[in-house]
Amino acid sequence: MAEKTFYDEIVECLNIQRKQLSGVTISEEVLKEFFRDMPRQQTARRQETVQPIPPAISAPAVHQQTTQYQTPPPAVHIPPQQEICGASPDEISRMNWDELAAAVAACRNCQLCESRLNTVFEDGSRTARLLFFGEGPGADEDAQGVPFVGRAGELLTKMINAMQFSREEVYICNTVKCRPPNNRNPEPAETEACRAYALRQIELVKPEVIVVLGAVPLHFLFPRVYGGIKKLRGNWLDYNGIKVMPTYHPAYLLRDPKAKGEAWKDLQQVMAVFGKKHTPEKRA
Ligand code: SF4
Repeated sequence: MAEKTFYDEIVECLNIQRKQLSGVTISEEVLKEFFRDMPRQQTARRQETVQPIPPAISAPAVHQQTTQYQTPPPAVHIPPQQEICGASPDEISRMNWDELAAAVAACRNCQLCESRLNTVFEDGSRTARLLFFGEGPGADEDAQGVPFVGRAGELLTKMINAMQFSREEVYICNTVKCRPPNNRNPEPAETEACRAYALRQIELVKPEVIVVLGAVPLHFLFPRVYGGIKKLRGNWLDYNGIKVMPTYHPAYLLRDPKAKGEAWKDLQQVMAVFGKKHTPEKRA
C-alpha cells in the first residue's frame, strides 16, 4: 500500500470531522491555507483531489471586531492528570506566583531543559493591563534568564515605548521557558509541555489586552484558527474575554524592516484601547 502523505492525513482527518460535525462547511480559502506551504508535488495532488471532498469544516472568519472562537483541543494534548515536575496541569492552574515561578525553575518536563542555562519566566509587572506574549528565549535571554533582552528585545522595548508604555508597566512572557537550541521554533510537544505555565501566567496577570508576537504564540492560544501571522495580524481575537492583537515578532521585523509599518498599525489599535494616540511630530 502506498505511504500516506501529509495531504492524505489531512483529508482523512477532515472526513472524520465531517462525520462528527454535521452541517459545517470547509471553505476553499481554508483549504488553500492548509496547503500554502506544501511541496509542489503535494499541492498538485490537492488540486486533483479537493473537488470531490464535500463541505466539511468551517474555520471561523476573521473580523475586524473581536470574535469569540470555539477552540477544540489542540492536536498535541497533555492528558489532564499527566504530571509536570510533580504537579499536574490542574495543580498548576491553581498555583500562586511563587509556586509557579518555583515550578518553572525546577521543571525538566521536556528536552529543552537539557541545554538551557536558565529558565526564562517573565519580565515586567504582574498587574499589567497589557501583556506581550512571545515564542521562546534566545541566547541572550537564556544567559540572563529574562525574556526579550537581545536585539529583538531592544526593538520590543522601543515598540512598547512608542505605544506610550514603559517596559516595567507591561508583562512579558513566552510560550516556552527554556531556549530551543539554535533559536529554532519550539516543537509542538515542547509548547504543550509548557502550556500550563503560560496559561496560568495569563490567568494570574488578567490583562485587558494580549499582543501575540508571531505565529507560534498565536497558534498556541488559538490552535484551531487557521492562517499565518501575515493573514491574521491586525485582527482582534478573543481569548477567554481578553482582547488579543496578533502582530509580527520583533525578530521578524529586524529581518524585514518594511513590515514595521504594518506592525505599527497593529500596535496603534492596541493603544486606542487604552485611550492612547500617536501624534506625529510636526517637522520644522
Ligand atoms: S520549556 Fe517549559 S516544559 Fe520544557 S523544561 Fe522548560 S519549563 Fe519545563
